[in-house]
Amino acid sequence: MVWTNRKAWVFDMDGTLTHAVHDFTAIKRALGLPTDKPILESLQKMAPEEAAPIEKHLADIEYDLAGRAEAAPGSFDFLTRLQAAGCRLGILTRNTRRNALRTLEVCGLKPFFDDDWILGREDRRPKPSPEGIHHLLGAWSHTPDQAVMIGDAIFDLQAGRAAGVLTVYVDPDAAYPHRALADVCVRSPREVEHLWRQAPAAHSTPSA
Ligand SMILES: [Mg+2]
Repeated sequence: MVWTNRKAWVFDMDGTLTHAVHDFTAIKRALGLPTDKPILESLQKMAPEEAAPIEKHLADIEYDLAGRAEAAPGSFDFLTRLQAAGCRLGILTRNTRRNALRTLEVCGLKPFFDDDWILGREDRRPKPSPEGIHHLLGAWSHTPDQAVMIGDAIFDLQAGRAAGVLTVYVDPDAAYPHRALADVCVRSPREVEHLWRQAPAAHSTPSA
């Protein structure tokens, strides 16, 4: 049973807990970066002095988007139930820590996440590295078979696979182009909650 004893939930933020508003192709164009490569990886290949102003511009674009964040369908209720079930909740985002805090505040989801469990791209190596998941599981004393990585992008699923945790793929269009990396495919947090609540023993401890 995939949901049994899943007590550690690591969430991507943008487009997973929130409505997807980031048009990454448009952002890459605005930054003058190649549109066929991920933003952070393009920046990593540049000299620091060349990358710095672009990183600033990127953070400004993301800060503006954070100010308009809206929770995805079911996010609030799902987090409420996970918290009530004693689950650990963390954020692992390729956005900055500052923008993550702003996004969560704006869409009303900040109360679910302790500051220590919100990891931005400057806190740990960004996804697809599993480093952030390893960090959270270590801090929570949980094992990969107790954990879930949930996200809408290939990086989320790759990070989850590399960490050996259950991967949940959110795609509001239900197209799932990266389904090979996903254990579970859903359209929204509401749908995950539905599956999780239906599973026997998902909410109980092993000894219960
Ligand atoms: Mg995302």
